[in-house]
Amino acid sequence: MAGMKFDYAPAPESRAIVDLKSSYGLFIGGEFVDSRDGRPFKTISPASEEVLAEITEAGPQDVDRAVAAARSAFESTWSGMRPADRAKYLYRVARIIQERARELAVLESLDNGKPIRESRDVDIPLVAAHFFYYAGWADKLSYAGFGPDPRPLGVAGQIIPWNFPLLMLAWKIAPALAAGNTVVLKPAETTPLTALVFAEICQQAGIPPGVVNIVTGAGDTGRTLVEHPGVDKVAFTGSTEVGRMIAKSVAGTGKKVTLELGGKAANIIFDDAPIDQAVEGIVNGIFFNQGHVCCAGSRLLVQESVYDDVLASLKRRLTTLRVGDPLDKNTDIGAINSAAQLARIRELSEVGEQEGAERWSPPCELPDRGFWFPPTVFTGVSQAHRIAREEIFGPVLSVLTFRTPDEAVEKANNTPYGLSAGVWTDKGSRILSIAAQLRAGVVWANTFNRFDPSAPFGGYKESGYGREGGRHGLEAYLDV
Ligand code: NDP
Repeated sequence: MAGMKFDYAPAPESRAIVDLKSSYGLFIGGEFVDSRDGRPFKTISPASEEVLAEITEAGPQDVDRAVAAARSAFESTWSGMRPADRAKYLYRVARIIQERARELAVLESLDNGKPIRESRDVDIPLVAAHFFYYAGWADKLSYAGFGPDPRPLGVAGQIIPWNFPLLMLAWKIAPALAAGNTVVLKPAETTPLTALVFAEICQQAGIPPGVVNIVTGAGDTGRTLVEHPGVDKVAFTGSTEVGRMIAKSVAGTGKKVTLELGGKAANIIFDDAPIDQAVEGIVNGIFFNQGHVCCAGSRLLVQESVYDDVLASLKRRLTTLRVGDPLDKNTDIGAINSAAQLARIRELSEVGEQEGAERWSPPCELPDRGFWFPPTVFTGVSQAHRIAREEIFGPVLSVLTFRTPDEAVEKANNTPYGLSAGVWTDKGSRILSIAAQLRAGVVWANTFNRFDPSAPFGGYKESGYGREGGRHGLEAYLDV
């Protein structure tokens, strides 16, 4: 089949649109400031290991300043502002994001390693959509179903991961501000740059000082923020392990908390599914964003009678994926976000082989520098295998089979997680029946990894609690 492949000439997106500074301070009280007690660190491009900029780590005094700025803005301006005026600021932010979309997409791909096609066509449009959507709610909170006059909580401490840096920022900041809260947000250590440009956008939009504060740093900065007594609400997206630590540390403090954690989603293919479409859904489910997706369809459950067809089509499709330069518009799979994440993917893949599963990747040349992992499929996987139970968070698919719908449901639910699932079948009645039995916060039917600001998202069990997005997403930021 390789002979049928077209060769693509490189089509790199220009970096010139990004005005990278050599160093960035913290964004506190509406301006960029130096740290009082943190050390500088560097953020690199995972595709080339080139240093992109020097970033400031926020120490405890810095976090304290940021929380104080957020408190002061909450009390003096934001919570008492006419809701329609709050909406105007959010609309303005949304429009500036659209205006600066190309710059943000290039920067996201540089710092995160994801293909420009995804940052340009998925991440950044969704970021703008979230701000537009929640801007619309700002002056309609009394119609949201939480009583006639729902009140904001106060200062929200928000911690986000590196897989969708600006999109996770939007999921956190847009509903918080719409509901009248002020925020201190900590981006992930490896992907701070778009959050810092977002700080510039807040200045550009004239958002009152202190309403949005960005403190960069690593896990210690996150912990300091979570434990700060001036924080009323903690919102976290990341690993189940850190989520558990956060749940323990806020227990008994009166802080509200929402946790959006890991997943090990089943993507279930029935024998009457349109195979070609299902294969596209499998590819989108696990290879989108290098598999760094909490709701990734990392466990493929295929009905035995179509197993051979599905596997043959899937392998054929995977030979056409292009792995490489994230800024090339032809690239399907970019770089793994960090050396640490690459080590974890390698380790779990080796465990998969040791446990007896069969490993396959298409022929694929990986760049010499940077962090790379080929799209990988494991067959002969059993439910007891670690690659069927643990979140790999990389471009690695574990394939299992089933015979009956009951067996599919049982296997799909046999996981400590419960974030998402996919069902592929021609029968509408089967979709409804299976979806009702799956213990997953989101179930996609004949599609996968679809996001919309109006749709609530969140998990069961070890995938966390609370919902983001939609009307439900407001509840997490209101005193209801
Ligand atoms: P983490 O959970 O450590 O990171 C998420 C965020 O929390 C980051 O901003 C991180 O900062 C911060 N953080 C780390 N420790 C603490 C703490 N004690 N208190 C408060 N905040 C903290 O995920 P990792 O990046 O370490 O990834 C590890 C694994 O987690 C991955 O392999 C993947 O399986 C899973 N993961 C799941 C995600 C999801 O969306 N479900 C997202 C990211 C990872 P910093 O980045 O500086 O460490």
